[in-house]
Amino acid sequence: MLDIKIKTVPEASVRAEQSGDWWYDQKRQGRITVSVVGDTFCTESELAIAIHELVEAFLCRRDGVTEQEVVDFDTLYESERKQGRHHKDEEPGDDPRSPYRLQHAAAIHVERAVCLALDLMWKEHELALSATAGARPKRESLGPHLPGLAPGHPLGSSPEDQPCNH
Ligand SMILES: [Zn+2]
Repeated sequence: MLDIKIKTVPEASVRAEQSGDWWYDQKRQGRITVSVVGDTFCTESELAIAIHELVEAFLCRRDGVTEQEVVDFDTLYESERKQGRHHKDEEPGDDPRSPYRLQHAAAIHVERAVCLALDLMWKEHELALSATAGARPKRESLGPHLPGLAPGHPLGSSPEDQPCNH
């Protein structure tokens, strides 16, 4: 059974300086709650992030990656970032040590597809994310995380040629 709740929240409610967050509600038999930083100037961006988080949460649960493992690693990563060990544009989900690296990579595929479907330029998407927090990673490193796509596949390139009218 799927039980999914998606909502936008103030930035302070999202953990580990991410654009989105997810967790399981054990009291509700594993409901997946996805929260997304609101107040971007592009609601399409919020939807793209929400679907990223949803896919990541679903895959983590399916693959046995616990929410606690994810939170612990994100916390470690952000403490390392404060020590200057990670660039501001890097994301914990991309780190080779990340317990949810594969799930994050799959979610990136989907996020890019959502942007493409919503006529949202990738640069506009990045801008919407960075506009909600100066310190948040700009996610400019998304490009290389598309293994397995044939050359020329529309998801293998940024949908930057398409307008964002929102
Ligand atoms: Zn992710």
